[in-house]
Amino acid sequence: MEGVVIRSTGSWYNIWCQSTEAEITARLKGSFRQDESKFTNPIAVGDIVVMTYENGDYIIDQIKERRNYIVRQSPKHRLAKHIIASNLDQAALIVSIQKPRTSSGFIDRFMTTAEAYNIPVVLIINKVDLYKSPKDKAILEEWMQTYTNLGYKVIATSAEEKIGLDELKNILDGKQTLFSGHSGVGKSSLLNAIDPSLNLRTNVISKVHEKGMHTTTYAEMFFSKELNANFIDTPGIKEFGVLAIEKHELKYYFREMAAQLNQCKFDDCLHINEPQCKVMELWNEDKIADFRYQNYRNILDDIISQNDSWERK
Ligand code: GDP
Ligand code: ZN
Repeated sequence: MEGVVIRSTGSWYNIWCQSTEAEITARLKGSFRQDESKFTNPIAVGDIVVMTYENGDYIIDQIKERRNYIVRQSPKHRLAKHIIASNLDQAALIVSIQKPRTSSGFIDRFMTTAEAYNIPVVLIINKVDLYKSPKDKAILEEWMQTYTNLGYKVIATSAEEKIGLDELKNILDGKQTLFSGHSGVGKSSLLNAIDPSLNLRTNVISKVHEKGMHTTTYAEMFFSKELNANFIDTPGIKEFGVLAIEKHELKYYFREMAAQLNQCKFDDCLHINEPQCKVMELWNEDKIADFRYQNYRNILDDIISQNDSWERK
């Protein structure tokens, strides 16, 4: 029997079987774990698995080859990779400028990781009903412009005032989409707004910290008949490690830098202090957004210091 993993809780997996239109629970064949040493979780939401029925239990004995997947640094081990989800058509990154404020650094870490794993990203800036101050408006404008110019799909939405929802529906139609973003940005509210039958639990924002509280702990797949779409909702992701990327590789995942391939004096230019660096030239002329360049530098520093700590071990 074959099915798709929709949830994992420790050693048990919830599997949706298309052929019987039923959800079952299954566990992994005992000898399986050793085979998968690259990741902290042997099976991820989105995996297509093959099961056999043994002594009253469904046992997963095979994972179909993953079309793609996206990883993050394991919450437990800094240097281990955890697969968030597999077999994705795209990833939607939901962000907000207020309540809570998503940093552009977080956005670029996500974008970089998705570029590295070849997963198209749609940037969804939610809660636009809240951005009345000149400062918030300026950030909204800057993000919309910068990422659109880089070729990303960007939409501004409000689950509260039903803004941008048709556009969102169009983007999700017929696809399997990873829904990511900090807790409290409105992932569940947006999904409920476009398909109320999903009836997802929404977070109550704590007044003291104005940060969303965790209500989900595991990634989970939802199906929307109405939209003909699958979503994978992820627990509020706090950070995105980019440890799977080499320092010389990073510049290829910043599209405005990748576009300047071979324009610097040195082929291995990291765009930090080298002479005749085209990227720094464009940055000095404000042709590369300052926040993007700064995020590049920060991510690069992280990669370099992670490699250092690796080598010292
Ligand atoms: P999630 O953790 O990303 O799933 O976020 P939720 O959907 O649970 O939303 C967190 C909080 O933000 C809830 O109190 C929502 O009512 C609120 N919220 C969601 N979308 C919007 C929006 O577009 N505008 C405003 N003002 N609040 C929103
Ligand atoms: Zn350069």
